[in-house]
Amino acid sequence: MPTAATHPTSIDPALALKVQASVALLRQGLRDHGRLVYASSLGAEAMVLTDLIWTQVPQIDIVSIDTGRLPEETLTLLERLERRYQRRIRLYYPDAQALQEYVREHGINGFYNSLGERLSCCQIRKVEPFNRALAGYSAWVTGVRREQSQQRAAAQPVAQDLRTGLQTISPLLDWSQAEIWTYIRTHQLDYSPLHDRGYPSIGCVPCTRAVEPGAEHRDGRWWWENPDSRECGLQPRRRPAAVTARA
Ligand code: SF4
Repeated sequence: MPTAATHPTSIDPALALKVQASVALLRQGLRDHGRLVYASSLGAEAMVLTDLIWTQVPQIDIVSIDTGRLPEETLTLLERLERRYQRRIRLYYPDAQALQEYVREHGINGFYNSLGERLSCCQIRKVEPFNRALAGYSAWVTGVRREQSQQRAAAQPVAQDLRTGLQTISPLLDWSQAEIWTYIRTHQLDYSPLHDRGYPSIGCVPCTRAVEPGAEHRDGRWWWENPDSRECGLQPRRRPAAVTARA
């Protein structure tokens, strides 16, 4: 397996240009903000971004949220990443008191009862720890791609997130799913084995399932809900920001 210092270079020129552009955007974000944080989902896109950051822009911090309902495969992957790159992903956890009260009132799987109860669970297990993880930063890196959903199709590489008040930087916006996997395989990166079992997007165990080949990227998340509501509340509400043209 190649180490962080021995990357193969045999990716096709079009993808190599996208890699360059993604790294340039990350570097520019770091120059603009001084500090930058990447909130990793530990999905396939996260494997690419973690590799780009830890091999090329290692000053960027990487955080992730352990909701308490993650699959074992995700936790094992996290450990493998830390071993490979000899770095730590900073983990954040839900507030124990808030979680206890939620479970007492709604039950251990109360998120299946209604959209409101599902969003409350995501608020406690994901959004609140996420907000804590981003405290003190003026911008954060996301792994979203335009292909992933209709909502994400209109995203911009640099935007103002109206929810957090921070700037978002999305270096993979124009990458296709095939390009993500080409990069992963070319560089022999670790990734969750759940992807090979039909999970395009991986989150908490009770709210994620495998999908048929060709299904929409988000079809395996909160599948019992209307497609328009299938986000966890971390999704930025963006306003495009002015971009300074620097390489
Ligand atoms: S994805 Fe499901 S289990 Fe995870 S925080 Fe949201 S509602 Fe709760």
